[in-house]
Amino acid sequence: MPKSIAAIPALAACLWASEAMAEPLFPNSVVSNDIEFIAADDPAVFGCLRTLGQATQEMPGALDTDELMVEGVHTFAVAFADDTEVGVWVHPSVGTQADAEAVAALLVGPIGRLPAVMRRTLSHVVIHSGDHTAFGEHLGHFFVVYADNVRARIATHDLEETVFHEAVHATLDAAWAQSEEWRQAQAADGAFITEYAAADPEGEDLAESALFAYAHLRHPDRLPPEVARGVEAIMPARLAFFERLFAAPEPDVAGAERLAGVGCASAHHSAPGPLVR
Ligand SMILES: [Zn+2]
Repeated sequence: MPKSIAAIPALAACLWASEAMAEPLFPNSVVSNDIEFIAADDPAVFGCLRTLGQATQEMPGALDTDELMVEGVHTFAVAFADDTEVGVWVHPSVGTQADAEAVAALLVGPIGRLPAVMRRTLSHVVIHSGDHTAFGEHLGHFFVVYADNVRARIATHDLEETVFHEAVHATLDAAWAQSEEWRQAQAADGAFITEYAAADPEGEDLAESALFAYAHLRHPDRLPPEVARGVEAIMPARLAFFERLFAAPEPDVAGAERLAGVGCASAHHSAPGPLVR
């Protein structure tokens, strides 16, 4: 049979599938499902958490004040073995230096599991006390988390996904969310993967879609078959977009050796499991 004739029923089936799958799969990507997009024991680029003492830092996102500049912020830097470095700034209300270090350490593994293209652009993480939903800042290339919420999300296996989502805002939104390439992919797909993305296509679609795309590209077995099919039907153009974005090979630098010379021999490390002191 000539190819052009064989293609007609296939095309019809394809159109029918995209029509049928046009509804979002979930309310949101991170907390409205139990999919383990990224696991806490996935390999991570080794990160060394170093204390830089207390300093004055800009700490947006305080819950009880609109104070922005804060003195006495517990300031850390995480040097990763792929030559990236990310700051971690912990509000003094979190507690002592040891308390601050303990919560900062919880972020080392999740940041070490980000795609290199994101870790390279991430400037720092702001950590406040309390329990509130995290948010990312696209121009400043940082995101804000709340210490009690970090622990709650570890308990529900959602911290890796939360860090990934907010890191997309912090590192990819500025370059891509308004880009012609992304807008064309959105228009070509014509549907959204979550209700949250559909409600805010300019603000949330990139971050919401990125998590599904990353799991589909790197760990396809973790998506239930119907979810994998839904991703393929709802966002094929976006999948191709992220395939290009995440195409760069990941650094093979899980070992501690390279950082041993900078005072990290006994420091926190982020590979392969969750961080332990
Ligand atoms: Zn978001």
